[in-house]
Amino acid sequence: SAPILEVENLTKHFPLHGGLLQREVGRVHAVDGVSFTLARGETLGLVGESGCGKSTTGKAILKLTDPTSGTIRLKGVDITHLSRAQMFPHRRVMQVIFQDPYASLNQRMRVKDIVAEPLGNYEPDSSRAERLEKIAALFDRVGLRRDALNRFPHEFSGGQRQRLGIARALAVNPEVIIADEPVSALDVSVQAQVVNLMMDLQAEFELSYLFIAHDLAVVQHISHRIGVMYLGRLVELAPKRELFRNPQHPYTEALLDSVPVPDPRRRRKRAVLRGDVPSPINPPKGCHFNTRCPLAFDRCFHEAPPLREVAPGHMAACHLR
Ligand code: SF4
Ligand code: MG
Repeated sequence: SAPILEVENLTKHFPLHGGLLQREVGRVHAVDGVSFTLARGETLGLVGESGCGKSTTGKAILKLTDPTSGTIRLKGVDITHLSRAQMFPHRRVMQVIFQDPYASLNQRMRVKDIVAEPLGNYEPDSSRAERLEKIAALFDRVGLRRDALNRFPHEFSGGQRQRLGIARALAVNPEVIIADEPVSALDVSVQAQVVNLMMDLQAEFELSYLFIAHDLAVVQHISHRIGVMYLGRLVELAPKRELFRNPQHPYTEALLDSVPVPDPRRRRKRAVLRGDVPSPINPPKGCHFNTRCPLAFDRCFHEAPPLREVAPGHMAACHLR
């Protein structure tokens, strides 16, 4: 079937001003020509170090920031240039879960009202009692006690607040969830609980997830496919197992080094990541990875490698593949 979400050549550049006259002194290439699709019921993990553009990609899809160019299609509809009002019916289809559940919840509202708020926008004809019953049922589903409905967010643990965030997102029956580092602020044991909950909910409600994280270990369990971003570009995109077993981009290999391998005999010699991520302001010409790549050669410094299929369903952007 057709993908539920299609991102085509998405680019987001911010002009950077400086000096006495505040002239444009450079451009931040936050997102630089990113393309991917998300299938119904699929989880696509989007991974990369901070500043790689993964959050900006999520924000552009959610229309929280306007892309410089490119196209975003939701269920076949081009939503790239829709106004707030035009976006209203589509917004319901696509909900967000943020990294810091505490910061994203209004501290002065009772949690039942926080969760009910989006529902009220989309089901104005429903009675308050109906909405409350729906929310109570959602609380059961996400593992929160019903007597918590009257509490305030600060009375909840980090994991419980993320369950609240999930309940709030689910209240309007979405089909796509953009989850921007949803478990990064949580303890490892709690991370696993929230990830498992998200997987159960995905199966039950046929949800599609774009799951953004800064390391592969977090997305390993939940993802069907994984996309790796580096300095605004998607450098590799592959089914999960394929990416772990047969990485094709030197950056992915380096990232895999940081994921613990259970059997040390299976550990192979991989590229060690040297240096820091260069600034996204006026990034290196050619391949963005050329300043850190142990395999870089002449061509890498003047020609950007396109993302292309190197095996069925496996894309990589490297001149050596
Ligand atoms: Fe390394 Fe060149 Fe491949 Fe970029 S294109 S990852 S610099 S070998
Ligand atoms: Mg981020």
